[in-house]
Amino acid sequence: MRQFLHLLSSLLAAVRQVFLSVLTYFKRLKESRSRYYKRQRDKKRANFGKFRSQDEPVTLTEKPLDIVYPDDLNPEIDKLPEGNAVRQNAALPDENVAHQNTVLPDENVAHQNTVLPDENVLRQNTTASEKTRSRKLPALRETMQRFTAGKRRTIRPAYIIAAAAGIFVLAGLITYAALRSKNVYTLDVTLNGDPVVVLEYGTPFEDPGASASYQGSVIHSNDQPDVPVSTKMDEEPVEPGTYMIQYSAEYEDLKAGAMRFVHVVDTVPPEITLTTDPDAYTLPGQPYKEEGFTASDNHDGDLTAQVTSEEKDGHVIYTVSDAAGNKATADRAIVYDDRTAPVLTLKDDVPLEIIVGDDWKDSFTSVDDLDGDITAKVKVEGKVDNYKEGTYTLKYTSEDAHGNKSTAERTVTVKPLPKNDPSLAVNGEKIVFLTFDDGPGEYTAELLDILAKYNVKATFFVTGLGSHPELIGREAEEGHTVGVHSLTHDYDKIYADEDAFWEDFDAMNDIIEQQTGSRTNIMRFPGGSSNTVSAGNEGIMTRLTVQAQKKGYDYYDWNAYDGDVYETTDPEQISQNIIDGIQQQSISVVLCHDTKEYTKDGIEDAIRWALENGYTFLPITFGCFECHHSVQN
Ligand code: ZN
Repeated sequence: MRQFLHLLSSLLAAVRQVFLSVLTYFKRLKESRSRYYKRQRDKKRANFGKFRSQDEPVTLTEKPLDIVYPDDLNPEIDKLPEGNAVRQNAALPDENVAHQNTVLPDENVAHQNTVLPDENVLRQNTTASEKTRSRKLPALRETMQRFTAGKRRTIRPAYIIAAAAGIFVLAGLITYAALRSKNVYTLDVTLNGDPVVVLEYGTPFEDPGASASYQGSVIHSNDQPDVPVSTKMDEEPVEPGTYMIQYSAEYEDLKAGAMRFVHVVDTVPPEITLTTDPDAYTLPGQPYKEEGFTASDNHDGDLTAQVTSEEKDGHVIYTVSDAAGNKATADRAIVYDDRTAPVLTLKDDVPLEIIVGDDWKDSFTSVDDLDGDITAKVKVEGKVDNYKEGTYTLKYTSEDAHGNKSTAERTVTVKPLPKNDPSLAVNGEKIVFLTFDDGPGEYTAELLDILAKYNVKATFFVTGLGSHPELIGREAEEGHTVGVHSLTHDYDKIYADEDAFWEDFDAMNDIIEQQTGSRTNIMRFPGGSSNTVSAGNEGIMTRLTVQAQKKGYDYYDWNAYDGDVYETTDPEQISQNIIDGIQQQSISVVLCHDTKEYTKDGIEDAIRWALENGYTFLPITFGCFECHHSVQN
């Protein structure tokens, strides 16, 4: 483009030079003609005074030249002596000229017109334009048009076209020159995109750049020069803030620039992530225990330490703000529950294996995380009877208010007392232990006599009820065994409680000691260990039987009975009952009462039968034989 403009400029300058040259030529020609006319007037004034008053002849001589002046004649014309031409022109009067145009001029004139125009005319034709001359010589032109009417019709259009073209080009050039003189070139830098860019932090900035344009104010062109634009940016627009980008361009001696502002903003709030333990819960009424959370921001990074939390109305509200002031919150609905069962603890200090009669007391605790100590609500299935041999399974269940249960189980074994001395046991067949309760009484002495008669040793479970306590001493002296039965034999009193029983027992043994010189360790419970008369005190027989053994007493019940209480008063029946009874087992313990007369009367027949039938009567000794009823209470 610029080259083109230069070219146009040069061309314009050349054209202008030509134009100026032409103007200069015309100017000189005009000056030359002025000088010529002056000389002609001088000559006319000297030679043809009669023409002095006329000006027309001057133009008249030029007419023919306007029509015919072939260029190839110019050299010859130039050679013509000036005087001849002048003469010729001067010699032609007006009428002569007219005559020449219409008829034939004299030979001299004709010759001139057709072949040799006078040098004056030729000179005019080579130095002045037709137009100029035509304006100057309208009368002559009219004359020549008439003279050469036929010839003009073919020549004149070409002249017009050429002249018009020339004028057109010239006008264009002039116009262009004028425009160019007013044209101002400018260099502009234009931003691509917006001059102010708001960019979210984290979004990569892509500079849309800028473009430079070099343009004339008047003369435009589509062919723009490719002007590079340089970009200056002190810092990449990454961190939040405002950045300026400068664009500049240079072309030739022009400079231009533009600016763009990039605002990097952070409008993205942090994110709070709550950690939720599916097994976590909060006890009703208890403060929430944090399960965990994290907070991170796209710009600030880890903001976990800045998070604040507030528990309110069953929710925990977490709040955190990033450096740009973007606030984030998170809400956690607290799960209230109690899924933890109470802690049920069975104490270790409780023996799991005891000897019958040993004290045994259970011990356990149950503590719930919400309900606290709920030991009292523990349910125990099963029960240990420490006075009863056996294996006891205890099942414990503790349930808190939310239905969480804990269970436990343990087994307690109540073992029997060990045998005192197995070597003392009596073995064999047809052994009979005759036992007499409730004495000594008024028939005891006779009974002792009968026993002595057959050398039969028996056992007396004595009481303090009789009026002959000295017989206790005789019983022992004669080889019989004395055992404690009861001082009072008062069921309600002795079975009211264990202490009362043993108090009565010890008192009786005191009497035995007084009568025999020693305390006995043989005993029989009033009513037997299987009695139910003690039912008013539940379990007392269980306890007493065990306590007796633990105290070192050997208690005896019976496996044969003579029926002397409530059954019969017939001595023969008494005897028969004994005989029948001792045949039921190898070792018999026969219950009799020496307080009954019919017993004393019936006993001898039974003894006689037994001895005759190979039975042996033995007194009870410690551990000789175990004869225990099944305890009923
Ligand atoms: Zn009794």
